[in-house]
Amino acid sequence: MTLFEALTVAKQQIDRLDARLLLQYATGCSHTDLLARPETPVIAPAYAQFSEWVARRAAGEPLAYLIGEAEFRGRVFQVSPAVLIPRPETDILIELAREKLQGLEAPKVLDLGTGSGIVAISLALECPAAQIIAVDVENEAIFVARNNAGRLGANVDFRQGNWFAPVAGEQFDLIVSNPPYVAAGDPHLALNGLPFEPQVALTDGADGLSCIRHIIAHAAAHLKPGGWLLFEHGYDQGQVSRNLLSAAGFKAAFTHPDLAGIDRVSGAYFQ
Ligand code: GLN
Repeated sequence: MTLFEALTVAKQQIDRLDARLLLQYATGCSHTDLLARPETPVIAPAYAQFSEWVARRAAGEPLAYLIGEAEFRGRVFQVSPAVLIPRPETDILIELAREKLQGLEAPKVLDLGTGSGIVAISLALECPAAQIIAVDVENEAIFVARNNAGRLGANVDFRQGNWFAPVAGEQFDLIVSNPPYVAAGDPHLALNGLPFEPQVALTDGADGLSCIRHIIAHAAAHLKPGGWLLFEHGYDQGQVSRNLLSAAGFKAAFTHPDLAGIDRVSGAYFQ
């Protein structure tokens, strides 16, 4: 079996780019190797790995879980099925957080439900003056996130626990979160590889707003005067998020769309 033959067979079963990437990861060959020396034989263990991955990909398993990594904001993060795969729409949460941190001297930031750590780690690397604490209820997520921070050289204080429990008595200049916000029974949960992702990170098992409600209800006690709360949410949760923020006494509630023009992040400050 040559590189060319392996790729040809796989491309009949899965997306051609996925097939190429999986072959590169299985064999250690670069894209250039594939183009320049397609007749190179694929050794048996590499072919066995490749075939297994192609079959799993064909069954819907996300590429990121097969190769164990995914990119976010130009950095490579390790992922496992214990954490969500980074989504490009989370970019806007980072951009807005950076905007709120601008001009603050040594801001304290809290990331709730950090998962693989992409939000906390991106902020730590892009706002080096900030002190970042990141919380997740899942030990396995904390393990993945700590590992990512170590590999990327980010200084983040990771703590295991339920939402605000690990930061009792502490106050922040900024609280950010990408909580589970998909409603239970949303048909979306059955599509695009989502069944392979941790359901606890995707859905609250209720109307999609229970984690957002919990965060809003407890955020004020953990914000310094004028501190901001920013969180990601679903396409139809902008208005209700602003209403919840205003009802809880937050000021200047706003919603920002993602790059696809979909309502994605809401936020407000507490005086
Ligand atoms: N944006 C993700 C999705 O629609 C959901 C992420 C989340 O629940 N935090 O697949």
